[in-house]
Amino acid sequence: MTSPAIAHIIDGKQIASDIRSEVKQGVDARILLGKRPPGLRVVLVGENPASQSYVRGKKRASEEVGIIAETLLHPEDMPEADLLNLIEQLNNDPDVDGILVQLPLPDHIDEDKVILAIDPDKDVDGFHPVSVGRLVLGQAGFEPCTPAGIVELLKRSGVETSGAHAVIVGRSNIVGKPMATLLLRRGLDCTVTVCHSRTKDLPSITRQADILIAAIGRANFITASMVKEGAAVIDVGINRIDDATRERGYRLVGDVDFKDVSEKVGWITPVPGGVGPMTIAMLLQNTLHAANRRDT
Ligand code: NDP
Repeated sequence: MTSPAIAHIIDGKQIASDIRSEVKQGVDARILLGKRPPGLRVVLVGENPASQSYVRGKKRASEEVGIIAETLLHPEDMPEADLLNLIEQLNNDPDVDGILVQLPLPDHIDEDKVILAIDPDKDVDGFHPVSVGRLVLGQAGFEPCTPAGIVELLKRSGVETSGAHAVIVGRSNIVGKPMATLLLRRGLDCTVTVCHSRTKDLPSITRQADILIAAIGRANFITASMVKEGAAVIDVGINRIDDATRERGYRLVGDVDFKDVSEKVGWITPVPGGVGPMTIAMLLQNTLHAANRRDT
């Protein structure tokens, strides 16, 4: 892999904006053909401020590309059975192409049961066990938005993946594991290593990475001594650290010590403005795909 002479800062905002424009073109093309715009329903149970803000962002972004998005707000004490009924209604609604249940759900609701209730053909988050199975088997289905967004960042930044050693730190169901599956896929062809909190001598492994993906949830955890010169470093982490100079009293940093690491590597994503904007862009893309697939 030939890396740039100076670290190339991967502009997730720009790449996400390009993808949103492509989705808009896809939506416009549907309308020209006399088809209805894609429909997305976002279900939010409770009043978690972070979830409220994510849901607002998803609705706004959907509307900008012509997707009809509705947010269904329900109180914290919504019974599980009512949520399951609501999902059943959305599964049967012909105007709904994508269903997204914002996580986390309140403690009295079984998340697994709720995800299982979503029609896999409307599972635009890609969390349903059928979607996970399709991903592993390489069949058409929905890819989880964050890892799918990372693949786009790599491709559109010219990072060579074929034969590259990709090291992923983190083995969660929403990032680490699907990331490993995607990078292993024919066409991307990475050799993949997945690390976690019990991995022995983590730096000796991360230093071998041509592509290093940090999905840990620990501020500035990956330091310059843990990366190989010229590597592509993708920082998934979103961590709040206290910052009295900011009005809100904190700032967001990634899992990678950006300043030091960026002096050594070939490519790096910033936080914010790297992986974050891609997650919503891929949700829009999945929703358009859902609508197009349901037509055929
Ligand atoms: P999880 O907490 O589910 O997983 C964290 C992973 O990191 C676990 O596998 C854990 O290992 C591993 N880990 C923790 N400490 C260490 C350590 N010291 N050494 C090696 N591995 C370690 O987190 P998520 O995957 O959900 O998210 C990770 C980060 O990405 C978070 O900051 C989250 O906010 C962010 N995120 C960002 C998104 C975006 O759109 N940009 C989307 C999703 C997440 P073990 O399994 O052994 O416990």
